[in-house]
Amino acid sequence: MKIKIKPLLLACATLFGVGTALQAHAQAFPDKPISMVVPFAAGGPTDVVARMIAIPMGKALGQTVLVENTVGAGGTIGGARVARAAPNGYTIFLHHMGMATAPALYRKLSFDPLKDFEYIGQVVDVPMTLLARKDFPANTFAELQTYVKANGNKVSLANAGLGAVSHLCGLLFQTQMAVELNTIPYKGTGPAMNDLLGGQVDLLCDQTTQTVPLIKEQRVKVYGVTSLTRLAALPNVPTLDEQGLKGFEVKVWHGMYAPKGTPAPVIEKINSAMRAALQDPMVKQRLADLSSDIPALDKQTPAGLKTFLEAEIKKWGPVIQKAGVYAD
Ligand code: ASP
Repeated sequence: MKIKIKPLLLACATLFGVGTALQAHAQAFPDKPISMVVPFAAGGPTDVVARMIAIPMGKALGQTVLVENTVGAGGTIGGARVARAAPNGYTIFLHHMGMATAPALYRKLSFDPLKDFEYIGQVVDVPMTLLARKDFPANTFAELQTYVKANGNKVSLANAGLGAVSHLCGLLFQTQMAVELNTIPYKGTGPAMNDLLGGQVDLLCDQTTQTVPLIKEQRVKVYGVTSLTRLAALPNVPTLDEQGLKGFEVKVWHGMYAPKGTPAPVIEKINSAMRAALQDPMVKQRLADLSSDIPALDKQTPAGLKTFLEAEIKKWGPVIQKAGVYAD
């Protein structure tokens, strides 16, 4: 067999050249600000987490990490933006378990959570609280159950769109109550909370990263938490499980992602900065005050997130199909 030396040399030189360029890019990274895309409106719980970790991440990377809110369609508009972004590490994504529910909820999802991303790591697990506007007639969970059964869709329930965890929590609540409420979608639970505080909407199920301070200031009514044990920050708020919604648990996990093809050395640098941020004393204290748990170290890894996401997609698919909820 005659091997033509010249094309082989050319191929090796090209490969060597590409390899060197990738290495040079990874070594220089980051040499400009990084965009951390949040798929919900500013002020909401996802945005709170992003802005909390963006500062220590920026310090660790020596570059500014800018939080950018790309909203709509329960977080899938933001997902599509990141899936299409250049795989160079300058666009990363902070999203919650909506990455696992979207494939079952959206029949025409414009990205594939298991094919279009590199995985950086799990960031934080956040429980939820079931709330009402301050002057809502029901004062206890038992009164709320009676009221929603008697009034059905005269009661409005805010959420952040199909695929948001506020939507999922509301769906599980309605299914367990066997009622259908009037659901009002927002671009995030930040704006939804503004309307709850203003009395324009009746109920909202939202993450403690936004709701703990408002509950403590008694600016909203709270009926229960969606964890199976009471929260240290809200010791007097019973769980929904202990009030009769047996097994009602929604713990909102969050992951950090980059576009597929982002070089491994760049992913490693971002992962190291993410882990450093989660060790930052201010971040640890603030997340503890907001009843949010930092995942174990093995979950703060690319493999930890990828394995968990695969399991969550398998878990939530049948639950959502059973509820018969989807968007075309
Ligand atoms: N976590 C979303 C937000 O930050 C709300 C949601 O998913 O319901 O707005």
